[in-house]
Amino acid sequence: MSDCLFCKIIAGQIPGAIVHQDDTLVAFTDINPQAPLHVLIVPRRHIASLNDLASEDDGLVGSMLRRAAALAKEHGYDQRGYRTVFNTNREAGQTVFHIHLHLLAGRPLAWPPG
Ligand code: AMP
Ligand code: ZN
Repeated sequence: MSDCLFCKIIAGQIPGAIVHQDDTLVAFTDINPQAPLHVLIVPRRHIASLNDLASEDDGLVGSMLRRAAALAKEHGYDQRGYRTVFNTNREAGQTVFHIHLHLLAGRPLAWPPG
């Protein structure tokens, strides 16, 4: 989608600190990190939010979650712990409407969330 920030990062039109890419996913460091490790895992295909997923996307979402686990392990946080979050729409604080999985690790993460 031409006007989407994350589509532009994926296309290389805006710089991103990319930590992983493959045929279907790109992962890059969040510009405003909320933890020592804060990575966004995004599909190359533009999907606005969790509300827009179809059953055909089940494999894609599974690969996003498995990539989060792999990146957490790669950075040494698999045993300490990490958090994976999809924010959806206004009350959850979604600001970029290209679906993304937040991976946060490296400090104790409070629960319940704010
Ligand atoms: P959300 O609030 O769940 O929609 O998350 C959007 C995230 O994108 C926020 O954590 C922002 O800090 C992050 N973000 C915004 N612009 C950029 C950018 N240019 N590169 C990397 N992350 C970004
Ligand atoms: Zn997009």
